[in-house]
Amino acid sequence: MHDDVIYDCAIIGGGVAGLTLALQLARAGRRVVLFEKEIYPFHRVCGEYISMENHDFLCRIGVPLAGMNLPVMTQFTVSSPSGEALHHKLDIGGIGITRYVLDQLLARLATEHGATICEGTKVTDVVFANEQFTLSTAHGATYRARLACGAWGKHANLDSKLHRPFLEDSRKGRQFVAVKYHLTGIDFPAATVEMHNFKDGYCGLSPVPGGLTNCSYISDVRNLRAHGNSVAEMERQVLMQNPLLRPYLEEAQRVANPPIVISQITFRERSTIDSHVLMLGDAAGTIAPLAGNGMSMGMNASALLHPLLLDFLDGRISRAELEQQYTRAWRGLLSLRITAGRLIHQVFGQPWLTTAGIRVLRKLPFMTDIILGLTHGKPY
Ligand SMILES: Cc1cc2nc3c(=O)[nH]c(=O)nc-3n(C[C@H](O)[C@H](O)[C@H](O)COP(=O)(O)OP(=O)(O)OC[C@H]3O[C@@H](n4cnc5c(N)ncnc54)[C@H](O)[C@@H]3O)c2cc1C
Repeated sequence: MHDDVIYDCAIIGGGVAGLTLALQLARAGRRVVLFEKEIYPFHRVCGEYISMENHDFLCRIGVPLAGMNLPVMTQFTVSSPSGEALHHKLDIGGIGITRYVLDQLLARLATEHGATICEGTKVTDVVFANEQFTLSTAHGATYRARLACGAWGKHANLDSKLHRPFLEDSRKGRQFVAVKYHLTGIDFPAATVEMHNFKDGYCGLSPVPGGLTNCSYISDVRNLRAHGNSVAEMERQVLMQNPLLRPYLEEAQRVANPPIVISQITFRERSTIDSHVLMLGDAAGTIAPLAGNGMSMGMNASALLHPLLLDFLDGRISRAELEQQYTRAWRGLLSLRITAGRLIHQVFGQPWLTTAGIRVLRKLPFMTDIILGLTHGKPY
């Protein structure tokens, strides 16, 4: 099959970054095609906490948040592996929404505004020549577009295809695995996000609709290997050593069984543009998940990119200017958050450092405000 249309923009990857960009472009009347290798709705590994900084943006692009009766979080608890805890208010706060619901909703809204959403379609190659991109899919189809955006997340086939430089470094660095469940049957405090550290990892819990609690954690892959690659055994021997986390994991029933697991996560610096493909979301820079708000950064990047894409499509700026302006804007807005996230991530999971950090922060609440401020952005 060959699609004869030349799209204004092709987006590879239908997570929050790609979908919010597709929705904005479709609302602006542009011809946009988005490829997602999975079929909506589907579950993903994600804490499903959306910082309030995105509230106005989401409403502006047509997400009916007000009518969705979502849990709102205003309190935060963090604990060290030994169970030393800090409780604090969340000034900006956030809402809980499952990716199962959110991603499907965004895809539906984008379709209603005229975007072409190709689900179950994996892009296998993207080539730039003669001022246009040609995308090939696993179904053997090709598509052409004036612009191509990479929103394929933390790790995808196209990273190797485009020989992205971060891959070289990441083979040498630390690798992580992440796991997610929806829990039921526990008495989880409403309006609270909890983050419990364990050796070389941390686990976040927060409410999502339907009376469920999202439980997602990230762990150094060595924890898994040390326990025969068994998630259940790693949870028993490592996570449950934290006395505040143990009761939740012991008492809860897991709604999705087996858990959703992803591996080969790294936090190396990435480029915002490779082979003229404009990257956004985790493809542009993966923030340590529980030390920041990856979804916010993905949506924020789509909001940055959208007007620049319109400027290019309408001939107001050249491709070189588009690439320069996007790189500058992205760095200005998001690279500090990624760096802060990486630093916080270094501390989390180190038993004595986390305990010492929590003791200090208990005496200096303003420092906690500063750290939480670094992991949340401003409304846009
Ligand atoms: C344990 C954990 C907890 C987290 N908790 C939170 C949280 O509470 N709040 C928060 O804001 N962030 C959280 N994050 C981070 C957040 O999940 C990510 O930052 C966010 O999902 C990134 O969105 P994205 O659109 O860039 O990528 P993704 O959501 O990963 O979407 C990328 C999509 O691209 C598709 N794809 C990949 N390759 C191809 C291809 N070749 N062709 C077609 N499709 C392709 C994939 O199937 C996928 O659907 C967490 C992350 C982890 C690991």
